[in-house]
Amino acid sequence: MRYLIDNNKVFVALDRGEEIFSSLEKLALQENWQAAHVFAIGAVDKVELGVYDPASKGYYLRQSFPTIAELVSLDGNLSYKDGKPFFHLHGVLCGKDYNCFGGHLFTATVAAVCEVNLHILKGNVVREFNENIGIAHCMIR
Ligand code: ZN
Repeated sequence: MRYLIDNNKVFVALDRGEEIFSSLEKLALQENWQAAHVFAIGAVDKVELGVYDPASKGYYLRQSFPTIAELVSLDGNLSYKDGKPFFHLHGVLCGKDYNCFGGHLFTATVAAVCEVNLHILKGNVVREFNENIGIAHCMIR
């Protein structure tokens, strides 16, 4: 991982084999980032996606995609949950047939490169469990 900080904007180059969430969580702790907008492109594998299932109230339907896919677009944010950095990321991916698929991202490993942009925000965004939707939602502080 290599990164460049320019005021509140950060460019992160993740390397092959690095898992996106654990790499970004480690960096957020190291740099003491509390909240951010996150977006990225790259090529990834070992991806697990999910879809929120309202009938299960908070349980995600999950599916693994082990082969290499183009990370067409990743968008999301950094907040804190249970006292730890929490990246909420959604991804649109495509395979060699150029058909796109996507969803809530649970994990992804860099297969070639992953170029992440962060806009670091001042203030705290903390996730707390909401019984109505069955998942943690954002509280702005
Ligand atoms: Zn989500």
